Amino acid sequence: MTVAPGASSRLAVLALGSNVGDSAATLQAALDALGATAGIRVVAVSSLYRTDPVGGPQQDDFLNAVALVDTDLGPRDLLAACQGIEAAFHRVREVRWGPRTLDVDIIALDDMIDDDPDLTLPHPRAAERAFVCIPWAEVDPDAVIPGGRAVAELVAELDRSGVSRLAAPVLRVPGGPR
Ligand code: AMP
Repeated sequence: MTVAPGASSRLAVLALGSNVGDSAATLQAALDALGATAGIRVVAVSSLYRTDPVGGPQQDDFLNAVALVDTDLGPRDLLAACQGIEAAFHRVREVRWGPRTLDVDIIALDDMIDDDPDLTLPHPRAAERAFVCIPWAEVDPDAVIPGGRAVAELVAELDRSGVSRLAAPVLRVPGGPR
């Protein structure tokens, strides 16, 4: 990866999505909450992408983004932090792949590979999701899915028609330039 984590920390790739309420504001608030979490530093964030819903019932388009975070947390604690932030936005998880106020998935954590259903690394559907791979390649053009393929190669092959980059609004890295 082009972005190196600190000496004793790990680099995590997080995918954020929302399709209920003011999604851009929710995603910025989620990034701010990640940045305010002890042991997590947000180092980069992609553009916002408007994306067609994949699977699930008829629902509104999503806004998606990918953030790179440097973290001292172990996998479980990072997942707990992400789920805590989801819960803070009153995410309702009634329908699989249904509408959600906020979704925060761990796409990769360093080069870890784990098939634990509670935290599968890398995320098992990352490689087939244009709404993950396109923003990931934007923030890390040299990214490789651990145990898998280069993200930029996947982007070239995936159906990109349901994913459009927004020129505005723009997400801010917490603590970064405004
Ligand atoms: P979802 O409703 O799609 O956000 O899925 C949440 C469930 O997936 C939780 O029970 C997590 O424990 C589990 N899960 C497994 N792997 C991951 C991952 N890489 N990132 C986030 N959640 C995961």
